[in-house]
Amino acid sequence: MTLPYAEPLIRREPQPRVIPEPPRVGEPGGDPCGLCDWLANYEQSEHRPPLWVNDDWALIRSTDVTIPGIVWLTTRAHHDSFADLPDRLAASYGPVVARVERAILALGDIARVHIYRWGDGSSHFHVWFYPRPLGMLEARREMLPLWADLLPAAPEEVVADAERKIAAAMAAGD
Ligand SMILES: [Zn+2]
Repeated sequence: MTLPYAEPLIRREPQPRVIPEPPRVGEPGGDPCGLCDWLANYEQSEHRPPLWVNDDWALIRSTDVTIPGIVWLTTRAHHDSFADLPDRLAASYGPVVARVERAILALGDIARVHIYRWGDGSSHFHVWFYPRPLGMLEARREMLPLWADLLPAAPEEVVADAERKIAAAMAAGD
């Protein structure tokens, strides 16, 4: 039993399908893409800037962090998924993800860095990085985001320190 819940859990039946699906953020008929706005204007924004940017990518800190080192990577421009990434971005995706993974692993006490591309929320391409704490075997595989959702918030200074280190490691690779 690795779920972050106590038994007994009762298996549910799948719900009736909803077709057509409601528009995602940034899709026609959905809410406008706030990420596009923010990426174009973050220097004037009161929000804290990305941890790292280059011409094509931005590495963003998360909010309400329970596991220090949770961050997400997004394209500067609005693309939906791998299927419509321009060739240049598709080619740089692997190297950028590798840099982020190394930067997170360097925090220490991390067994594995999980990388999630859900795609069900915003239609602006982004992938999540979740460090699995070393030894936290119950959070292996798909259990990690469930645990990350339920754990208490990590101390602010610990989160900020992890973010500083990730930002420094990314800058060092430029
Ligand atoms: Zn967008």
